Order: sequence, then structure tokens, then C-alpha cells
Amino acid sequence: MKLVTRAQWGARDYRTPNGATPYSRARRGVKLHYLGTEFADRTHDRCGAYIRLLQDQHMDGRGWSDIGYSFLVCTHGYVYEGRGLKRRNSANGNTTLNEQDYAVCLLVGSSGRTQPTDEQLHGARDAIEHCRTNGPAGDWLGGHRDGYATTCPGDAVYAWAKKGAPRPDDGGSEPETPATERPVVDLSKLIAAAKADPPKKGTPVSYPGTKVVEAALVAEGLLARSLADGHFGSATVDAYALWQRRCGWSGDDADGLPGIASLTKLGKRRGFDVKE
Ligand SMILES: [Zn+2]
Ligand SMILES: [Zn+2]
Repeated sequence: MKLVTRAQWGARDYRTPNGATPYSRARRGVKLHYLGTEFADRTHDRCGAYIRLLQDQHMDGRGWSDIGYSFLVCTHGYVYEGRGLKRRNSANGNTTLNEQDYAVCLLVGSSGRTQPTDEQLHGARDAIEHCRTNGPAGDWLGGHRDGYATTCPGDAVYAWAKKGAPRPDDGGSEPETPATERPVVDLSKLIAAAKADPPKKGTPVSYPGTKVVEAALVAEGLLARSLADGHFGSATVDAYALWQRRCGWSGDDADGLPGIASLTKLGKRRGFDVKE
């Protein structure tokens, strides 16, 4: 959770004793809210100032002892600590409702930006789980409008709450995989490796292109995976001879030493290029 503590957003001190009132019983769950005013998209460097403005409105305009909400979530997915987990919120409509559920406000408006962003839904989900785990709170989830005459938290947030506040689908997009270059196998180096292997004890692993060819032979079902060890040894020679026969050669043409035609054909099927 991208938590922004009161100290980090520059909260004013809350008034005592009312701002320090703890919950007197277990919380049933979490109620979601929205701003219910015009709200414009803004860059995140302006979100802290907006939270401070809301606190001023709640304390100076409404005469509350602190910002009303337990937590607030900006469109960038940051979770701002309001009254937090232990101090009773003042946002749900009356003392009974405030006692009953936490109050989490998503910074979206009734005009301007009205749809929560995916980042914001993740942040709100983080806040809900934080309340449930660390409050603790029960699993009940709804909106300010449940049991109170208000349009809050707006239709978009309310519909999401009633679905159980699922994390947004990432659209099925896979993490970007870097474009990999096709390996290039040097035929003369491969033949040299095939003639030199198996290595005597202590000799370094042979030409790296061997592994590319071995992987292709494994994929063709001609070589056991355990024998694809980077050495063009007798098992690899035997496997390559099988590949040559599969290609239609026989006799000396299928002796297991790679030739340009058979290797190019294997590369076309298994994703590598050959240079002579
Ligand atoms: Zn509300
Ligand atoms: Zn933000």
C-alpha cells in the first residue's frame, strides 16, 4: 500500500477531545465515499495540497475536529491517512453510522473526473484490506448511501463496492518481454565442437551454439533433455544423425556431424539462424 501518513501530507493537529474519540466497538466493515463536487484531474504533486484543503473545509467549514474520513485515495493510488484505524470517523452521517464502519473516500467528483482510475481502485482495495486486517473490520462493504440519504459515493464507485471491490483487470496484458534476438549458430565452430567433444576433464565448455542446437534436438524429440549439456558429445552426435536421417540423408551424409543443409533446416524449425 502506498500509504501517506499525516506527517507526510502535512496534516493539522486534530482538536481534542473529540478528534481523539476511539471506536467503542468492532467495525462491521468499510463504507466508500466520493467528493460529490467538481473534481479535476491533477498531477500527484498537487494531491497533498488537496487533502489539506479538505481538512480545512471539514475543520473550519463544518466545525469538525479533524478531516472526516478514515482514509482518502487519490487517482494515483496513494492512500492518505485521515483519522486512521483507531479514531472514529465523522463521515458516515451520524454517530451510530460512524461507529459502524470505516469511511474511505476516493478522490473523484460528481462532475469533472467521475470515474476512478485503475490505480485508484488498487489503492482503495489496499485501504479496505488494511482496515480489515489491521482495524480490524468485518467484510461488509458498501457506500455512504447505504442507510443514509445521499448519492455518495456516486454510481461508479458504488457499483464497484457492490461487486466486492475487485482489483482492476490488467486487461490480460502480459508483462513486456524484451525482444530476444534469434541465436546465430556458426557452422564451422559447431563442427569443431562436435569433433572435439566430449571434453577431457577440466577443458572448458565448448562452443555456446552447441546448446542452441541441443535444445532444438530436444524439441524434436531426438535428444534427452538431461543430455543437452553444452558438449557436442556422442549422445548429441547420435541425436544429430537421427535428425539427418529424418531429413532424408543416409550413410556418410548422416554421420552426426552437422552440415549446412540439415542445420539450416533445423534452425528454420526451431528458431535460430546459421552462418558458415
Ligand atoms: Zn460520503
Ligand atoms: Zn495523487
